[in-house]
Formats: sequence, structure tokens, C-alpha cells
Amino acid sequence: KKITIAIDGHSSTGKSTLAKQLAKELNYIYVDTGAMYRAVTLYAMQQGFISHDYFNEKELVANLQHIYLSFKFNEHLGFAEMFLNDENVEKAIRSIEVSGFVSKIAAVSEVRSKLVQQQKRYGIDKGVVMDGRDIGTVVFPDAELKIFMTASAEIRAKRRYLELLPSNPSVSFDEVLKNVTNRDAIDSTRKDSPLIIAPNAIVIDNSNLTKEEQFSKILDLATQ
Ligand code: C5P
Repeated sequence: KKITIAIDGHSSTGKSTLAKQLAKELNYIYVDTGAMYRAVTLYAMQQGFISHDYFNEKELVANLQHIYLSFKFNEHLGFAEMFLNDENVEKAIRSIEVSGFVSKIAAVSEVRSKLVQQQKRYGIDKGVVMDGRDIGTVVFPDAELKIFMTASAEIRAKRRYLELLPSNPSVSFDEVLKNVTNRDAIDSTRKDSPLIIAPNAIVIDNSNLTKEEQFSKILDLATQ
């Protein structure tokens, strides 16, 4: 029987890597909700609604209807890429700039309700692995399996830093650490659907776990 799997947790804990792997193994759909918040952030940047010293929340909210988000499965990559108004933004949404603004955008209630509505639709047929910050609490409170992933901030920043380095040789470890802790702080304290451990969620601290160990642990939980 197909189930719904909600994976939440702190930034850069490897949620999406694990969720993708799990979806592939179980032949489920994988939905990266962080990509959706990142795409809205990219839109806000392109329109000039947000910059380092400025955020016009009103203008963003007034323009939400012009944002059309979709995922298209890429056979070659083996996962679905994010499209913003029919443009492939999968690479652009992973930039440090987008990471720097995304938690501010994700704290806007109107943004959340728009995206949550779309996310709920992806779960109608079960057989879905969704990762984010509010999946077990808001999007699928009835999910059969809820995982909450965490790890020490230093370990998470180090992993993300090593990931970013090849394409961003000028990135510094401190900058990445600051971004990771800053996002967690905003995500955990925002008024609308703050990042909390959902009731019944299984907490996995992967500070000292390999990817293989995490995967077999979660696969066990999903198939038991
Ligand atoms: O998962 P990822 O790190 O790509 O998410 C980027 C940001 O989007 C998070 O730091 C958080 O601010 C926001 N987010 C959210 N709710 C989700 C998924 C992501 O608020 N379900």
C-alpha cells in the first residue's frame, strides 16, 4: 500500500538527497517544496521586490497570481526540475543570493498558503515523498511516516560548503555557516507555520551517520 512520507528538518541536512533516493526506490513521486519557495524568491529578486536593504512584501503579494510553478521530470537527471513561469530555474534557485533571501519570502503568509495549496494537490494519490519545513505539520498532518532531520550546524555548513565550492570558488565557510544558522533561526521563529518537530515525527540526527546508514534506516521505516 502506498503511503505519504513527510521529511522535514533543518537547512542542509541532506533531506532532498535522501528523499529523492527514497522516492526512486519506492517508485514514488518526489516533491522538493524548498525549490518552490526558492522559485518565488527568484521571481521577487527579478522583479526588484527584494534586495539587501529592501523588501516590498505588498508588491510581492499583489503579484503572486503571476507566479506559475511547475515540476518537469528530467529523465537524464532522474528527478523533477523546478520551472518558474515555464522557464527552467533549477540551477538559478540554488544560488547563494537566493539562499540569503528565501527565508524572508517563506515567512510571508500569502506565499505559504499559495504553495501549500499546490503541495496538497501533489499528495492526493499517495505514493509521495515530500521534503520541506512544514510537511508533517501543515501540508500532510496525516502522513503515515514523518521524519525530522537534523545535525550540528557546523557539520551541515561544512557539507553545504563542499557542495558549493566547485561552482563558487569564492564562497567562504563562514558565509555558508551564517546562512545555514540564519535560515534556521528565521524558519523556527516565523509566525506562520514555524519549523517545529511534528507530532509523531521520528527525529534523525545524522551528524554521525553516512548516507547509506540514513537511507537504510528510513527505508526500513517506510516499508515496515
Ligand atoms: O529546503 P531548502 O533549504 O531548499 O528550503 C529553502 C527555504 O525555503 C528554507 O530555508 C525555508 O525558509 C523555506 N521553506 C519553507 N517551507 C518549506 C520548504 C522550504 O519555509 N516547506
